[in-house]
Amino acid sequence: MNRTYIKDLVSAIGKEVSISGWVDVRRDHGKLIFVDIRDMSGKVQAVALPSNKAAHEVASKIRPEWVIQATGVVNKRPEKMISKNKETGEIEPNGDIELELKSIEVLNEAETSPIDLHTDGREINEEVRLKYRYLDLRRPRMQKNIRLRSEFVERARQFLFTKGFTEIETPYFTSTTPEGSRDFIVPSRMYPGKFFALPQSPQQYKQLLMTAGFEKYFQIARCFRDEDLRADRGFEHTQIDMEMSFVTRDEVMQLDENMITTVAEAMGYTIKQKPFPRIPYADAMKKYGADKFDMRTEEDKKRGVLAFAWVIDFPFFEKDADGAWTFTHNPFSMPAPEHLEWHLAGTHTREIVTQQYDLVCNGFETGGGSIRAHRPDILKATFRTMGYSNEQIEKDFGHMLKAFASGTPPHGGLAHGIERLMMILTGENELREVQAFPQTSSGRTAVMDAPSEISDKQLRELGIELRKKK
Ligand code: ASP
Repeated sequence: MNRTYIKDLVSAIGKEVSISGWVDVRRDHGKLIFVDIRDMSGKVQAVALPSNKAAHEVASKIRPEWVIQATGVVNKRPEKMISKNKETGEIEPNGDIELELKSIEVLNEAETSPIDLHTDGREINEEVRLKYRYLDLRRPRMQKNIRLRSEFVERARQFLFTKGFTEIETPYFTSTTPEGSRDFIVPSRMYPGKFFALPQSPQQYKQLLMTAGFEKYFQIARCFRDEDLRADRGFEHTQIDMEMSFVTRDEVMQLDENMITTVAEAMGYTIKQKPFPRIPYADAMKKYGADKFDMRTEEDKKRGVLAFAWVIDFPFFEKDADGAWTFTHNPFSMPAPEHLEWHLAGTHTREIVTQQYDLVCNGFETGGGSIRAHRPDILKATFRTMGYSNEQIEKDFGHMLKAFASGTPPHGGLAHGIERLMMILTGENELREVQAFPQTSSGRTAVMDAPSEISDKQLRELGIELRKKK
């Protein structure tokens, strides 16, 4: 018999069906044994009657989280037995039907779960939760979060395809670049003593795709940053990363706003203000004391409203801890047209405004980007301001300068942090609640034991000798 998904049982009343899934809960009343069975589509109550010996016998020994295939007849349940969801009081999906079991086949047994799967999981020690993440993900909240994330990405992808974008992958093994964070480094076996860096973002490659003539690029891109971990920061995060040619700042913001609005509204969310307000950085600092802020009222918060705003007109440079100029957002950005002369001359550094835009939502920065410096002299000026020598610029960015001297169109783009957006959409407070296999807050991989030591043979192959620990 073909498998029926549990959500489709409502339209199979009176029919014999076969379902597959996990035992969620079992209630043994001696004569009647109730088994709640769960699959990716929902949950249903099944009942084994003593009159059916075979099914009753298996039902008496199965345990929560065993994997089973069950056949039975779908019955409408008497009104008074309709099950209510304990938390919400709502009728559960399929609450008005029941499966009268004919047979049960055990596909795999399960040890007793080391973590409780019937709570929301937040009370469980994080290391333990992530060690058993494959079980933790079975809880409805996690299933919902991860599926919602997939829906979000699918809708964004569809939107971008309808606008003529091409999805292109860029390398994970690349070279170290300045993007404000520490790189993750990968040793090279073929070139002992040399190292790859994992990309902090596809920034340079996506710009090179503009040189290559693709004009509209996007990627669901993994980014790697060796940062101190926080609730809203991990070593790895995913971006919806875009870049476009022959565009103005307003056109990029417009397209992005259109995407975010289309996707969020299709998913049933309400947006507080459209078009998104645009707030100059200086005004945001004056009004909110920060460049990310929450414009929601208490009522908006209760209703799950999304309050988006653009922040624009950021200063290009600021002084770092050593008193040297560094970029505030992105070294590849273009200064405001009225400040280009200063930029090229290396004067008025503090006053130069960059064509950077950040998208803020409900107190978080959820995205950002800029119109880029697409001429070699402009990019060179940026690094000169930051104190790079000509040799250093050539060594680190010679490839970009060469590309920019090879017919690179004006271009710009932006990226959205998917986890930040999903935290907002799901109302979660932690990045980890919207990633399938996140790192622990102490920087260890979920489920697997990483980072871990490697063998002497591997070290030798890589030409690496470890220093003795002090
Ligand atoms: N590369 C930037 C980032 O990762 C985004 C952009 O400017 O497109 O934040």
